[in-house]
Amino acid sequence: MNPSRAPDLLTVVIAAFNEADSLPVMHARLVAVLDSLARDMRVDGRVLYVDDGSRDETWALLQGFAARDPRVGLLRLSRNFGKEAALTAGLDRVASGAALILDADGQDPPELIPRFVEKWREGFDDVHGTRIQRAGEGWLKRSSAHAFYRVIGRLSKTPIPADTGDFRLLSPRALAALGQLRERHRFMKGLFGWVGFNSVAIPYERDARVAGASKFNLWRLWNFALEGITSFSTAPLRLATYMGLATAVAAFAYGMWIIVKAMLWSDPVAGWPTMMAVILFLGGIQLIALGLIGEYLGRLYDESKQRPLYLVDTWRPATGVSSGHDHGVEGGGDANRSTTARSEVT
Ligand code: UDP
Ligand code: MG
Repeated sequence: MNPSRAPDLLTVVIAAFNEADSLPVMHARLVAVLDSLARDMRVDGRVLYVDDGSRDETWALLQGFAARDPRVGLLRLSRNFGKEAALTAGLDRVASGAALILDADGQDPPELIPRFVEKWREGFDDVHGTRIQRAGEGWLKRSSAHAFYRVIGRLSKTPIPADTGDFRLLSPRALAALGQLRERHRFMKGLFGWVGFNSVAIPYERDARVAGASKFNLWRLWNFALEGITSFSTAPLRLATYMGLATAVAAFAYGMWIIVKAMLWSDPVAGWPTMMAVILFLGGIQLIALGLIGEYLGRLYDESKQRPLYLVDTWRPATGVSSGHDHGVEGGGDANRSTTARSEVT
């Protein structure tokens, strides 16, 4: 590393939705990491909190953080848009340098950030954390997550690494590439994979939440899985074709059998129960196929409306001017560079 170079700029983007209980703990840990980054690795670290329409004390807390530390930028959305949109809003406003995505609940330990930075400096564009343990998560969540990654891994051509969440560092060019993907249904893990470039995984143990409960219950996770599959694969649409083919072949064979039977033994008309079973079975299959088409059609409808991905209530960029911190960041560059959002087009 060339010591005369200006420090690398890294913005930690954190989406927070009703995280008042975890944020104080998280922020203290994060600030300590930013300090050590500036001191030991010549990284000019910033934080960008995105308040995703929280209804608790989150916004007041965040304003307090920003008032005390010029490295903290704040973005508040007009309502709750969901984690994906909130992250997109935050990433859109990282004007230069790399970005690192972190959860507000402390599940992704900020203390690992220096290792992400090391990998970035080695030339990787997408450094992502891969969970080797999911503390505080039940058997059901773990096994459903496992099943989901297997299914999507088979269905999708885009590589989607298993057990990889949003904890990742994106180099400036990966960030710019991601910024071009403006689809409304944002399955982030897939979008990161789609972007490509050099990626590397950092295994880590995912801690339990600092406080509060996960916002993702099983129903939400199911919808999340649907989102992932429909966003990155059209294989389910083909399922209807195969189901139809299989039923047609079976029906043909059965028809032949009935004819032969009638010719040989002049069989009387078969009973009502078999008829009902066949009708209901076919009706069920047809509805499933229709539902599958509907899933895609609905998403197509959402895309076609071309609504913005999120709306901003307040945007307060980090000024980045070093204040009471005596960790000696020199040559931090243009203090206002983060005020120019890369793109206002959402
Ligand atoms: N989050 C958000 N908007 C939402 C739901 C969640 O910004 O509508 C944030 C939340 O504050 C946290 C992160 O997304 O920082 C992950 O949420 P959570 O911990 O509930 O999910 P899990 O870790 O269980 O996947
Ligand atoms: Mg969490």
